[in-house]
Amino acid sequence: MKPKKKDIRALTKEQLRDFFVANGDKAFRGNQVYEWLWGKVVHSFEDMTNISIATREMLQENFVINHIEVDNIQRSKDGTVKNAVRLHDGLVVESVLIPTDTRTTACVSSQVGCSLDCKFCATSRLKRMRNLNPDEIYDQVAAINKESLLYYNHKLSNIVFMGMGEPLMNYNNVIKSIEKITSPEGLGMSPKRITVSTSGVPKIIKKMADDDVKFNLAVSLHSAIDEVRTSIMPFNATFPLKDLRESLEYWYEKTQRRITYEYVVWGGINDRKEDIEALIQFCSYVPCKVNLIEYNPIDDGEFQQASPQEINNYISNLEMHGIVVNVRRSRGKDIDAACGQLANKS
Ligand code: SAH
Repeated sequence: MKPKKKDIRALTKEQLRDFFVANGDKAFRGNQVYEWLWGKVVHSFEDMTNISIATREMLQENFVINHIEVDNIQRSKDGTVKNAVRLHDGLVVESVLIPTDTRTTACVSSQVGCSLDCKFCATSRLKRMRNLNPDEIYDQVAAINKESLLYYNHKLSNIVFMGMGEPLMNYNNVIKSIEKITSPEGLGMSPKRITVSTSGVPKIIKKMADDDVKFNLAVSLHSAIDEVRTSIMPFNATFPLKDLRESLEYWYEKTQRRITYEYVVWGGINDRKEDIEALIQFCSYVPCKVNLIEYNPIDDGEFQQASPQEINNYISNLEMHGIVVNVRRSRGKDIDAACGQLANKS
């Protein structure tokens, strides 16, 4: 049996250069092919027009170019675009383009499904099938960048890792994708415009601080009381708030960058005085801001967004304590593209 062809995009630039040298060509050829793969994001060797036909055929014999296929594009009334992204093995993830007057943001997935079991999130109903490779994450961003140019006439400005999956449970690949997204040979984006959102894996938060990463960190907090948080985010039993707090203090000490807490207020779950007090207390540990996210219903109504009065109550109490609060309206709800709604429905 012929050996299975390797995915050429799994090779680093150095490895590509070495491959050409080992095959009697110049190392520089590796740079050219790398530019086609990552800068111009071509999906076939035939498109590499400054490479000789013989070399292209040689590549064809040795490698495949695994790539995503944007299968289905849905556009919301508010301009949000949702992509159903088919991976080389037929699995599907979703990614979202969110336009505003001043920017366009890509919301990308890091895993197929999710291993966490957050009770309010549609993705949790899909079991985790596998991690995405760095190039599969990169491709989602590149595809959205193209759509941004096509639909809105400007380049993508921001990226949030808030699609399917828990990025810190696929840390190595997420980091590699960000290296490519920020490198001049990739999309050349600033890491300051990238936010990785996590339910909170303390060990990896510390590792990120040690790795001196330059992107932003958001933590899906939703409650600062262990009992409440565990009831809606069961993995909190394994990674309790005490450990999360310690890792965030470590993060801030090393990076000096403030953290964003994402928080949904639900009636009957975290709308009591003690819930607000616990959040205020938690916000005192490291410099931070709070994004209050609108709840996007996913089910039979077990979770209900708290009333506007209750939400205002949160806002005024947090502000009284000098905490910065933003209220985040949902985008793309009509096409199931909003936070927590990504579940491969179509
Ligand atoms: N696993 C990562 C990233 C994916 S979720 C994380 O937990 O941060 C992205 C954000 O959407 C998180 O803040 C999550 O708590 C929130 N979210 C999940 N389901 C939601 C829903 N139904 N309505 C509103 N926000 C939701």
